[in-house]
Amino acid sequence: MLSERIGIDDIDCKIMELIQKEPNLTHTEIAGRVNRSQPTIGMRVKKLEKLGILKYQAGINIKVADLLFARVDILTKNPNKIFDIVRHCPFMLTAFRLSGNNNISIIIAGLSLKDLDHVINHHLRGNPEISNVHMDIIEDVVEDFVLPIDLNFDFSRIELENSCCGNCEF
Ligand SMILES: [Zn+2]
Repeated sequence: MLSERIGIDDIDCKIMELIQKEPNLTHTEIAGRVNRSQPTIGMRVKKLEKLGILKYQAGINIKVADLLFARVDILTKNPNKIFDIVRHCPFMLTAFRLSGNNNISIIIAGLSLKDLDHVINHHLRGNPEISNVHMDIIEDVVEDFVLPIDLNFDFSRIELENSCCGNCEF
């Protein structure tokens, strides 16, 4: 069972299932559905949150947002440095470390293909530590896929600058 693997019991499992399907349920409502008291639910939810197993993600929904999203796979000698760039670059939403021919996969967002190209050129192409850069546009996602994005950053500014965003220089 997956629940055993991540170290939670059946009740925790039911609580998480309910929250995932209906995030707005109150603890009292959850209590009614799993036959436990409301304080028990409160304690269990707090425990799951503290463990980091239960997380609430707010951000932009890639499934519906009218932006261009792409996955960029690279092979780099210095994955930590790429993670640093991803943390600072507003166009880069997240990255995965992989085993295989490419060792990092980055999710990037922009207003146009030209913008995405610009970001990739600035940060990745021509970097001597990176030997392989491959971009695919994300055309659809099965379910809602939510990632935090810096909405204060003016994404159209990229047209005006030769660098990326000004705060992601590495
Ligand atoms: Zn950048």
